[in-house]
Amino acid sequence: MDIIKTPKLENVQLLDKYNLRNPSKGTLYFATTHLIFVDHEMRKETWILLMHISSVERLPITTTGSPLLVRTKTFQSVFFVIPRERDCHEMHQTLLRLSQPVHIEELYCFHYKSTPDDLPKSAGWNFFDIQTEFQRMNVPNEQWVLCNGNKDYELCDTYPSEIYVPAKASTAILLGSASFRSRGRLPALAYLHPNKAAIARCSQPLSGFSARCMEDEQMLDLIRRANPNCGYMYVVDTRPRINAMVNRAAGKGYENEAFYENIKFQFMGIGNIHVMRKSLQKLVETCEQNTPSMSSFLSGLESSGWLKHIKSILDTSRWIACAIDGGVSVCVHCSDGWDRTAQVCSLAALMLDPHYRTINGYQALIEKDWLSFGHKFSARCAHYACDARERAPVFTQLLDCTWQLLRLSPEAFQFNERFLLTLHDHAHACQYGTFIGNCQKDRRDLRLSERTFSLWGYMANHLNEYKNPLYNPKAHPDVLIPDLTAQSIRFWRGMYCRHEHGVHPREALADLLPASVEHCSALDHHINYLAKRISTFKNLLSSKKADKHKDSAVVNYQIGNADTVEIDTKINALQIDNKLLYESGATLSELECANHDHPLKEAVLVKPNKIPLITEKADDTIPGSFAQLETEVNTVALDWKSIKNVTECSCSTPLEHFSRKHHCWGCGRCVCTRCVCRRAPLPALASPRAAPLCAACAPQDLATPAN
Ligand SMILES: [Zn+2]
Ligand SMILES: [Zn+2]
Repeated sequence: MDIIKTPKLENVQLLDKYNLRNPSKGTLYFATTHLIFVDHEMRKETWILLMHISSVERLPITTTGSPLLVRTKTFQSVFFVIPRERDCHEMHQTLLRLSQPVHIEELYCFHYKSTPDDLPKSAGWNFFDIQTEFQRMNVPNEQWVLCNGNKDYELCDTYPSEIYVPAKASTAILLGSASFRSRGRLPALAYLHPNKAAIARCSQPLSGFSARCMEDEQMLDLIRRANPNCGYMYVVDTRPRINAMVNRAAGKGYENEAFYENIKFQFMGIGNIHVMRKSLQKLVETCEQNTPSMSSFLSGLESSGWLKHIKSILDTSRWIACAIDGGVSVCVHCSDGWDRTAQVCSLAALMLDPHYRTINGYQALIEKDWLSFGHKFSARCAHYACDARERAPVFTQLLDCTWQLLRLSPEAFQFNERFLLTLHDHAHACQYGTFIGNCQKDRRDLRLSERTFSLWGYMANHLNEYKNPLYNPKAHPDVLIPDLTAQSIRFWRGMYCRHEHGVHPREALADLLPASVEHCSALDHHINYLAKRISTFKNLLSSKKADKHKDSAVVNYQIGNADTVEIDTKINALQIDNKLLYESGATLSELECANHDHPLKEAVLVKPNKIPLITEKADDTIPGSFAQLETEVNTVALDWKSIKNVTECSCSTPLEHFSRKHHCWGCGRCVCTRCVCRRAPLPALASPRAAPLCAACAPQDLATPAN
């Protein structure tokens, strides 16, 4: 890229706020997509995706050089100290330019050529579509129909082309209602519960102080009547009353209960995007404090108001979910109906419908309520240079609220924390086309499904990383009404303090459980293999006994004629030994790594010379010599290395706290996601399944990962 004038800078210092005295020294490289700092001495690499950079700030010059503070949208803040001021200035300019492309076409997704899994570009783009999603809710039906009026975005250009409206709503009503709503965002169906209560969403009415619109009034009445079980309906304005009042002066506002038949109107008090942006800013500053004291952290958290905002979003969502569960339809709006409305509609649906608590269900929910109904991802996540006042952590808050629910009812969700973090990072990274643009029309105009990859395709290939081992949907009622008392809302350090070493559990339960399950399965297959081998040997020996009187020997001995009885005893000893190891409550770590002191070595291989060399083709899977048998047994690791303190894969990819660590079934070491794709069947596993292997354990022809 010609923007990059200096591709690398030497003798740069990287300051870690926990270790200000001993800065890391190294070289800073500009790649087309990343800023990479390499500490040659420590062999440590820090990678920052350019698209993730949220701000670059020059600080006053010190004796060692010019400091530059780089903050990312993933809550990492890094201090670089650059020896020459001119270099610092140049780097500042370059980073500003690269992290905020002027044109949408410069975004990473448009020049991202292939995924790590070699997926075709089309993979994932057709995973979700709004019609299928509504069919799942039994829509269309007698009350709700697909409206053809927005096929080419004539009614509302920020809505999906397919919207569902009451069956009785005439074109005149739809047109009238759309013209009376801010940006044409007329009331449309967002969620239908089995009891026929519906969540409809829209933007604020253009009511000013006294304006009325008959069609809009009829539209809301039709939505109310689409639920035959209740004579009234709630209209929820998620804004604080005062904000809605102020809007009236601009010809906007809220529904007057006197004009709309049988509605109950409710304000909710969720702050606007500016309040949320400032709140997050304060939260980030709080997290950035150098060794904060308890009181400075708590007062920073308090004054940011972040948890209060999270609670207000959750409270509103819960309020809506309770109304729907109680059989009353709810029509929700905020100002334009694309921020707070999206948040509370999806969170209420998440509480009401267990399908949305699955991995695919949650993705479908984002696709429906956020991508289709027009959340302005490019503006809110600042994908390219635009009005800074448009930036807001609205989607981050959705994920935060979801995390709160996940933490409160871990068994109710199929996905884990990593799933939410992945969504967050990719909503900002622009590597995939999924979150680019501000509405469905934008994405169609940019032809993203042809020109870019879909995040859903990538994630579908990595589902195992996102699975919550505690998921047990049967343990929960379908409708999840969370306890939202103040003390149940927590600060999400996994999100906001993600890059701080030492504040996270060293072995996250959500990773430890699946690793243990997988390890048990590896050992099971190994036990089956051993049992098979033992019985083959037994058969061989007994047939040898039977054949003793005949001339055709089945077994040849390496040296002389070893006593068959002795070998029989050896095999019994091996079984007992194995049994003891597993039944005496010995922990797995007592079984030492296969490559070193394999316990079976002691049991079987004590006197290799006395063990028969099988040459007869009685079972052609039997190794020809003892050494070969030993090699075969040792292809499987009995002990697996702990995931704590693992910082690097054997391929030297850095493994961060939140990166998924897998185990090599061959040596038991931790490997990265890329390496785990390298799979081969292991002879010492009675399983047709190919086992994940690290670079060292994989056969030569698999030297590079399969994809
Ligand atoms: Zn290995
Ligand atoms: Zn690796």
